[in-house]
Amino acid sequence: MTKRNKVICLTFIVLFVGLIGFNQATIKELAPSVAKAATVTYTASANLNVRTGPSTANKIITTVKQGTKLTVMGKEANGWLKVSLKGQTGYVSSQYVKISNSSATKIYTASANLNVRTGPSTANKIITTVSQGTKLKVIGKEANGWLKVSIKGQTGYVNSKYVKVSNPSSDAIQVVAKPESIPVLVNKKNKLPENYVPKDLVYTTIPFTFIEKTEKRKMRSEAAVAISELFAESKRQGISLLGVSAYRSHATQVALFDYYVKRDGYAKAITYSALPGTSEHETGLAIDVTGGNGKCAAEDCFGGTKEAKWLQAHAADHGFIIRYPKGKESVTGYKYEPWHLRYVGKPIAQTIMGHEITLEEYYSTKAVQN
Ligand SMILES: [Zn+2]
Repeated sequence: MTKRNKVICLTFIVLFVGLIGFNQATIKELAPSVAKAATVTYTASANLNVRTGPSTANKIITTVKQGTKLTVMGKEANGWLKVSLKGQTGYVSSQYVKISNSSATKIYTASANLNVRTGPSTANKIITTVSQGTKLKVIGKEANGWLKVSIKGQTGYVNSKYVKVSNPSSDAIQVVAKPESIPVLVNKKNKLPENYVPKDLVYTTIPFTFIEKTEKRKMRSEAAVAISELFAESKRQGISLLGVSAYRSHATQVALFDYYVKRDGYAKAITYSALPGTSEHETGLAIDVTGGNGKCAAEDCFGGTKEAKWLQAHAADHGFIIRYPKGKESVTGYKYEPWHLRYVGKPIAQTIMGHEITLEEYYSTKAVQN
């Protein structure tokens, strides 16, 4: 490449990056509340120099450590971010900033009595009015800040100015420090790190309710051995069991949760399905089981069956616990799930099942509320 061509090429790259930056800034300006609602988190992905201006030619004010959350005030056309640090304003290169945006999990609530219109402006006819505090099912966003919503099967538009957006995953949820630990606590307040995949997943050898060889048959090696032993022991005692679902990848959990939210709404979905990252199935240490006839698979009617009773009495002998016991909804955040087994290893399982406590109580953590 000639020097002149190199210059042209570089100019295009700079222009292109600039355009992306410009577009983001434009969207932000047009739809302030939507942009704010997106709960984007900015994290330094390396030790990061904060400078007096948006290029490396500027003086370094300070250096922030990798993993520091950044308060971004604006974006420069060249991809640099204007940040606020301890009251000071500075600039960092976005190259070293991880931007995460958790969608799908946001809750939209009418912050005032709110008109729902046939189109995205006040020029359109009012279909209905929803009262303040109503949860809204948002199905799309208009560039002018209006939201497309679905209300009782009807589609309409509301002004996002009067919609409060909260992201439950952004507050009070801790990321677990040792996701690979066998007795790891994963629940609605403790989630797995992004992109966590257990290293020792293997196919279990137990029979399932389906025949396909999918990820749902997998567990971490230690748990896979234990579940085989548990199934073998149940068989010896005349109890027939089938696996329903074991490992679930993060991507699968994302798709599943989105599906439930679409079907039943966020508020209901969160009572029976886990937010991505907070499902025990993503650890490779949990498995849903059912009786040999395959009926009541992961359903309430499994409770009270002879298989459920057998599991209650014998799961701990093989290192498993009934993770969501009856009467502990306020502690675990889940209703009774007699079919959901969680491997924690024999000593802990025996303590938990013997004392009729939960994994949360074992760790003496705070109760998990929905
Ligand atoms: Zn389960």
